[in-house]
Amino acid sequence: MTVKPGAVVVTGAAGFIGSYVVDRLIAEGRHVVGIDNLSLGTLENLAGPLAGDRFTFIKADLADGPRTLSLMEEICASRSVRSVWHLAANSDISAGVTDPDVDMRNTFLTTYNVLVAMRRCGIGSIAFSSSSAVYGDNPATLREDTGPLFPISNYGAMKLASEASISAAVESHVERAWIFRFPNVIGKRSTHGVIFDFIRKLRANPRELEVLGDGNQQKSYLHVADLVDAMFEIVGRTNEPLNCFNIGNTDAGATVRYIAESVIDEMQLDASMRFTGGAKGWVGDVPKFQYSVDRLLGLGWKPRYTSLEAVRKSIRELLTDASGQ
Ligand code: NAD
Repeated sequence: MTVKPGAVVVTGAAGFIGSYVVDRLIAEGRHVVGIDNLSLGTLENLAGPLAGDRFTFIKADLADGPRTLSLMEEICASRSVRSVWHLAANSDISAGVTDPDVDMRNTFLTTYNVLVAMRRCGIGSIAFSSSSAVYGDNPATLREDTGPLFPISNYGAMKLASEASISAAVESHVERAWIFRFPNVIGKRSTHGVIFDFIRKLRANPRELEVLGDGNQQKSYLHVADLVDAMFEIVGRTNEPLNCFNIGNTDAGATVRYIAESVIDEMQLDASMRFTGGAKGWVGDVPKFQYSVDRLLGLGWKPRYTSLEAVRKSIRELLTDASGQ
């Protein structure tokens, strides 16, 4: 009997976080098949893996059920695939407010289709990038067992629906699932987010920065290097059928005002700030949340950068990164 070489499938591979997951898997000696429709991600994010011999890239829309199924069957015909890291999604919360179909297709349907394909191909494990948005606007310290969960954005709703589908799949055909509830993740290669927006706005108008909301929105920010470490720590150290973890920083977070001031400072500008007012930046924005990451800390993981340090570091990285221009 010939043994097929093994591979890990990463969806959303050309995106910000997905590309770092690909880098890490390859650094650990794995073969990776990356799938992305390139709607938000770019092949530049995959320049390193594409230059090597342990990475295959396939452009495909995972919201298309028949295409997802035939693609995964093709991959599994030549490689033995035991796990999928599913990161493909709409990552732009406000885009889903304008058009809820974006979250329905790119977040929920991609998850559903991946699970259907996993069942057909006998793939046992899934690692899924969920979000703090599943908790909604809840003033409590958010733990993995906080509930009921009432998201206030379509983005959060479709992440929660995806978590529910994964939970149901664990009962029927998935052997092991990891659900990571990410905070705001920042760093080089990011395709969206508050730092990215402020840099873009200040490049267009260096004299004045428009800040959505009153600037007091305060959230946990985590550098992508710390996030990836946390994900791999969780997968390496837990083996319940369903493992759900908040990932975030251990501090009170950073305010939008601090981020605006830091971007102006790092760009060495003398810009004024104009706040649009109101506690929320936009419809679906959760202005403040406080995370408990005790479960994750219990595994021995520690972030290298505080929220404030991660913000400063990410601004510098984006200012020297072509994607931040
Ligand atoms: P990203 O937009 O850079 O990456 C998502 C990737 O998915 C993109 O490359 C995009 O082209 C791809 N994609 C979207 N729809 C697709 C489809 N139908 N078929 C195939 N590919 C598709 O965003 P990111 O910040 O890297 O986010 C990665 C994951 O982490 C997402 O699931 C996102 O919701 C989640 N997440 C991110 C953050 C954050 O702060 N960055 C916070 C919470 C959760």
